[in-house]
Amino acid sequence: MAGEFDLIDRIRARVVARDDVVLGIGDDAALLQPPAGMQLVVAMDTLNTGIHFPHDTAPADIGWKALAVNLSDLAAMGATPAWCTLSLSLPEPDAAWVDAFLDGFDALARQHAVALVGGDTTRGPLSVCVTVFGFVSPGRALRRDATSVGDEIWVSGTPGDAAEALAQWSAGGARDPALRALRARLDRPTPRVALGLRLPGLAHATIDISDGLLADLAHVCRASGVRAELDIDAVPVSDALRAAGLEPDTRRTLQASGGDDYELCFTAPVGARDAIVAAALEADVSVTRIGRIVKGQGVVATTADGELWAPVRAGWDHFSG
Ligand code: ADP
Ligand code: MG
Repeated sequence: MAGEFDLIDRIRARVVARDDVVLGIGDDAALLQPPAGMQLVVAMDTLNTGIHFPHDTAPADIGWKALAVNLSDLAAMGATPAWCTLSLSLPEPDAAWVDAFLDGFDALARQHAVALVGGDTTRGPLSVCVTVFGFVSPGRALRRDATSVGDEIWVSGTPGDAAEALAQWSAGGARDPALRALRARLDRPTPRVALGLRLPGLAHATIDISDGLLADLAHVCRASGVRAELDIDAVPVSDALRAAGLEPDTRRTLQASGGDDYELCFTAPVGARDAIVAAALEADVSVTRIGRIVKGQGVVATTADGELWAPVRAGWDHFSG
């Protein structure tokens, strides 16, 4: 068993170096130098065991995901990530667990040059809370209230994979051989930072899909005072999800209401189509048009046959049901 300060030393030994960190881990607080003229973008997300990840999730995957879900929020604002803090609550001061956790955390931090600049280490039920800090030029952030009637709705990647992985895990294991690919999408989501950085000036409102496409789109509609028409059958299906051989309605429900994909959903004027496709190509992620913004309120979904469609259950809400 390690002491608190041994754990902090292990964490400190692995942080990414950045010139704008005047003083990192070790003092009472960090000293950071934001670039002149930029707005600071701040987001925080907590992962609790059994709620945000299955109990059997590998520590390295928990480390990855804790940072990934936060970087996803910065991506959804069009921000450049820079720094983060980490609050770690552990049942035991387990150095091997912390090292494994850091393997995942650090791999993603290096990809995005994010410096861990401070945090807190306490004893308690396993819980990981990360705060990320990034920058955006004034007026360029991708806000939920920025959608206009006539915009098209886009989504990155293939929503539904993480929800199917969770469903299979809850049902007691693999229902199909593609589970590993799906499980990777649940455990190691890819924050769409590169895409988010290319969307200011092209996209209007942008959100990351953490609670489910319908639920997250509803936030945009509320904030912008508009209605979203979603073509549910236009939402792209991954090979792994297709291989799960689900009933169409079950699959649609996972894609519309399943959380945890951390894909970006954004709205943009029709004239931005080509530029968006080019931006996505540069960012090495697929993007698909899945609907449009009209006058009114709420979100409606229709199938390829033009039938109104509703999911078997709605998006994830911690305090309902
Ligand atoms: P204090 O008692 O002043 O709050 P701590 O003993 O909690 O300081 O932490 C010592 C230093 O280590 C601080 O700079 C703090 O930010 C950092 N730190 C503690 N836990 C973590 C962690 N889990 N991740 C990153 N930095 C941490
Ligand atoms: Mg402290």
